[in-house]
Amino acid sequence: MADPKGFMTTPRQEWARRPVEERVRDWDEVYEPGALLPIISKQADRCMDCGVPFCHDACPLGNLIPEWNDLVARKDWRSASDRLHATNNFPEFTGRLCPAPCEAGCVLAINQPAVTIKNVECAIADRAWEEGFVPPRVPERLSGKTVAVIGSGPTGLAAAQQLTRAGHTVAVYEKDDRIGGLMRYGIPSFKMEKRHLERRLGQMRAEGTRFRTSTAVGRDVDAAELRTRYDAVVLATGATAWRELQVPGRELEGIHQAMRYLPLANRVGEGDLEVSPLSAAGRHVVIVGGGDTGADCLGTAVREGAASVTQLDIYAQPGAERDEYAEPWPTYPKIYRLSPAHEEAGQLGTAPAADADARLFAASTLRFTGDDGGHVRALELVEVDERRRPVPGTGRTIPADLVLLALGFSGPDRGDGLIDQLGLVLDARGTIARDDGFATNVPGVFAAGDAARGQSLIVWAIAEGRAVAAAVDRYLTGGSQLPAPVSPGDKPMRV
Ligand SMILES: Cc1cc2nc3c(=O)[nH]c(=O)nc-3n(C[C@H](O)[C@H](O)[C@H](O)COP(=O)(O)OP(=O)(O)OC[C@H]3O[C@@H](n4cnc5c(N)ncnc54)[C@H](O)[C@@H]3O)c2cc1C
Ligand code: SF4
Repeated sequence: MADPKGFMTTPRQEWARRPVEERVRDWDEVYEPGALLPIISKQADRCMDCGVPFCHDACPLGNLIPEWNDLVARKDWRSASDRLHATNNFPEFTGRLCPAPCEAGCVLAINQPAVTIKNVECAIADRAWEEGFVPPRVPERLSGKTVAVIGSGPTGLAAAQQLTRAGHTVAVYEKDDRIGGLMRYGIPSFKMEKRHLERRLGQMRAEGTRFRTSTAVGRDVDAAELRTRYDAVVLATGATAWRELQVPGRELEGIHQAMRYLPLANRVGEGDLEVSPLSAAGRHVVIVGGGDTGADCLGTAVREGAASVTQLDIYAQPGAERDEYAEPWPTYPKIYRLSPAHEEAGQLGTAPAADADARLFAASTLRFTGDDGGHVRALELVEVDERRRPVPGTGRTIPADLVLLALGFSGPDRGDGLIDQLGLVLDARGTIARDDGFATNVPGVFAAGDAARGQSLIVWAIAEGRAVAAAVDRYLTGGSQLPAPVSPGDKPMRV
């Protein structure tokens, strides 16, 4: 640390967001361009360079956080970039999208605001691209081995980049028309602009990774036949089988799964559509589900010009502070968090039916009611206690002519036939079963990311992609120098 007293003299300052009125009129990232770099070296200097850095332990990638905090404090951006890329293939993704369990685990967070680790990571990644510190790393020699990676989300991309750099010939198969998984079709660009994805894909293509889009393995290509064509196969197909809401009126028109709604908005951003066929413009929108997918629907509906937006969360509103007994430091606590989307909905007053941030907590949907044409017009809800029992006298009806279901995901989508064609065994949760070395029951077929772990986070996806690459490299060559930051049995801190 350049200044040993930095944590005492410098208060935490985060990357400023653009004014709400401005940012809801476009789809660009919510952050103020150019506002991060001037503050970040002082922020990095708040790091105490702890003897036991809990931040490092809390990060599934094992990011070398105190090391790059020190390098940023000293403005040695090239070395900081090298240390960051030593553990993370795509820090510009995590620097924008990660909920930062590292910050919850930061030692400083015991009695004052944590180091802004996520902002430091993002600043290093962006600076590295600007300065040309991340050229393609083409392997010096090829192994002659071939690998098919199925799925191009963060898991598949991390695995593909690691294996390509190790000298294997890698082809990524993706059923969508563009590469990126949920980072392409799911996550809105106000959280991460797609140019960051394109830039990495350019690097990967230059390194030799090949991409086959619009190819659903199981439907367009037989999975078992694909296995015979490649020396190894990595399944990184995600977990996008969504949960349903079985209540009266579910069949009415105007009720959609979040993952039908969000990708259409992404397609407008890509220029494929002029207007989303499910646009929220002028509609009373109700989002059922209090998680991040719901928050992404909220930010999207606000930008599309919804008449009102309400997000229902079945859980009670968490407290503002960590519960020291139930969730002591350094765990990731369940506390009240105001995402940019909630800030927007609150400030714009688009939530007449709800509290100031558009959320109704402890709210359970009883039924939908519609008009004569069979279109949803209202949602009946009731307040529930901590055991989800209805609280008498709390029933009410709110207007709803677009309902978005964001209730989470149960496991991999089986519609393509890939799982059956390969004869894969699933575990009790419905995700692809694998052993401690990421190997499935089919020889030469490995599974990683959400497809095997269940719905998780980008940081876990990248960590699993790196680890499965090491396992495949070992399978192909008898040994591996590639890092394996996580094992299949590792449990995330609850996020
Ligand atoms: C709306 C939403 C918002 C999220 N926001 C965040 C966030 O802000 N921060 C965060 O950390 N995490 C977030 N997540 C979670 C995160 O996106 C996932 O954990 C992560 O993308 C998982 O990566 P993956 O590569 O395993 O799977 P995915 O990203 O789901 O990628 C799987 C890919 O496989 C392809 N595929 C599937 N089957 C086949 C087949 N048979 N043939 C060919 N291709 C196939 C799919 O089309 C897809 O492109 C969010 C999730 C959702 C749904
Ligand atoms: S725990 Fe916090 S203060 Fe300690 S090394 Fe990590 S970032 Fe720095």
